[in-house]
Amino acid sequence: MTEEIFRQDGYIFEFEARVVRVSGDKVELDSTAFYPGGGGQVCDTGSIRGHAVREVRYEGKDIVHIVPGHDLKVGDAVWCSVDWDRRYDLMMGHTGEHILFSSLKRQDPDISIVKIYISPESKYVIVDRPVGWEAARGAVEFANRVIRDNHRVVRSMMERDDPEMERIRSNMERIGEGEQISVVEIGDVDIAACSGIHVMETSELSCLFVDRIVSAGREGYAVHFRIGAQAVDSAMALANTCLQAAEAADSKPEDMVRAVSNMKRELDVSRGSLKAMAERELAELVPEEVSGIRVYSGIFPGADRTVLTGAAESFRSGGGVAILVSSGDGAAAVLASGNERIDCRKVLAETLEPFGGRGGGKTGFAQGGIPDAGDAEALLASLRASVVNSLVPR
Ligand SMILES: [Zn+2]
Repeated sequence: MTEEIFRQDGYIFEFEARVVRVSGDKVELDSTAFYPGGGGQVCDTGSIRGHAVREVRYEGKDIVHIVPGHDLKVGDAVWCSVDWDRRYDLMMGHTGEHILFSSLKRQDPDISIVKIYISPESKYVIVDRPVGWEAARGAVEFANRVIRDNHRVVRSMMERDDPEMERIRSNMERIGEGEQISVVEIGDVDIAACSGIHVMETSELSCLFVDRIVSAGREGYAVHFRIGAQAVDSAMALANTCLQAAEAADSKPEDMVRAVSNMKRELDVSRGSLKAMAERELAELVPEEVSGIRVYSGIFPGADRTVLTGAAESFRSGGGVAILVSSGDGAAAVLASGNERIDCRKVLAETLEPFGGRGGGKTGFAQGGIPDAGDAEALLASLRASVVNSLVPR
């Protein structure tokens, strides 16, 4: 069994060891400071006698280092080096996860942890209940106070039946009968059963920031966080985005949430009345007669696509032709015909093309759009000309 240096001291990243077993790319040492991953934390990387260690993992109770193309032999004394920047980031991440979860629990005492993930690229904790941004703000404030107060992070071993275990967050099902339990205590803030690697003092994290909360499907909600310089960079970038958004919304940053909610509500009301207006206008639309065929055409600002397609369908089923355009974010067009002299798909595609637009559909019914709402009038005129051209016998 390999002596696990990382359990004694997380700050040792260079060490000498002896090779005890070799099998292809797999190398085992008599002692190692490489953390083989576990508890949601990814493994360390680094080098053994200059050969890159790509992965480290447990195989049974043994720790196996994957070292492609090495020339190591059993009995070799080797100098080993763990990628310290990566390891330290993972240690900070793991410590940050303890602080973050206990901070979230202060906002919502019923919240439980489902699982965690700590890698250089991504750090998150999945919890069983939704976390709103007000709660996240409170948790982040508390977490950063814990970081500034520089609590000691102390690891100790405890027996499973120790009465003290009552006050410790742990997943007892994971701990075997009679097994000793590694317990990590952060000042008077948090105490949890954990076999991962942590820093010694909370101030080493310098900053913690939650920058994303997303659904994790059946598992719950993933609260993504960053630590150290990455947390500061992320917080500053998001603060700047918020200031730009406030400027765009003509609001003070502190009033922006209310301002955007109001805007959204007003937009819904406007959309509703535009839709009602378009429905009214479409119902009253008077067709022109072209070679005995009724042609319905017009522009309906803000009308949504379902209103246009519904009306077009009814004009078409009555044997007429519909050329309906709406303007908004760009312009949309629906061309429908109950008369087989018009190939709607072909006419629409040819007409949209010079406007930089695209469309598709069938002979009797096609729809598409163009990017510039200012071209809506010209688009309608062009579609109407094509339709008249198709209907008038030459
Ligand atoms: Zn931990």
